[in-house]
Amino acid sequence: MSPTFVGPGDRWRPKAAVDLVGSRLSKDLSCWHHAGVGESWLRLIPTDPSWTPTTPAQATAVTLLQGIAPCAEEIRAVSYDTTTFIDAGANFEAMSCPVCGHDVPAAWWAAKMQQGFETSFSDLAVEMACCRSVSSLNDIRYDWPQGFCRWALDARSPGRSKLTDAELAALAAGVGHELREVWARL
Ligand SMILES: [Zn+2]
Repeated sequence: MSPTFVGPGDRWRPKAAVDLVGSRLSKDLSCWHHAGVGESWLRLIPTDPSWTPTTPAQATAVTLLQGIAPCAEEIRAVSYDTTTFIDAGANFEAMSCPVCGHDVPAAWWAAKMQQGFETSFSDLAVEMACCRSVSSLNDIRYDWPQGFCRWALDARSPGRSKLTDAELAALAAGVGHELREVWARL
C-alpha cells in the first residue's frame, strides 16, 4: 500500500537530495550500496520536532555517526528554518492511528499535510479521523518511520543497515535528545 501524495510532493523531499548526482561506487568493497535502485539515506531526527542541538553537540553527533557508518558517502547535520517533514520516500508503506491503531486514510492524511505545509507545519496537532482522538502528525505510526524536525543528522548511502539500540543510544547521548531513525529511499 502506497499512499497517494496529492500535496506538495517533492517539496517534502530532503533538500539536499534534490541535487544528488554522482558515483554509486562503493569506496570499500565491504560496504553494501544498492547501486541502481535509488538513493538511500539514514536520517536521524529529534523525537521532539521543535528541538535543536547546540553547535558543539552537532559536531559531536557528526563525528559519532562517521564512526557508526564509515562507509557513508556523506555525513552531515542539516538545520531547517521551519519545521520540515522528513519522509521515508519509497519506504513509506502504511500508517496507523497512535491511539486506536486503525489505518489512517491516505487522502485524509494528504489533506492534513497540505494544510500543515501551508502554515510551515507550525501546528502539528490533528483530530484523528478514526476515533476523534487529538494527536499529532508527528505521532502517527508511520511504517517505515518518518517525522518532523528542525534539525537532522544525515548519512547518504550509509552502506549499512538499521542501527543497533546501543548505536542509537550513543547518538542520542551525543546530540542531547532522543532520536527517531528514518530510512529514506529516493
Ligand atoms: Zn484512532
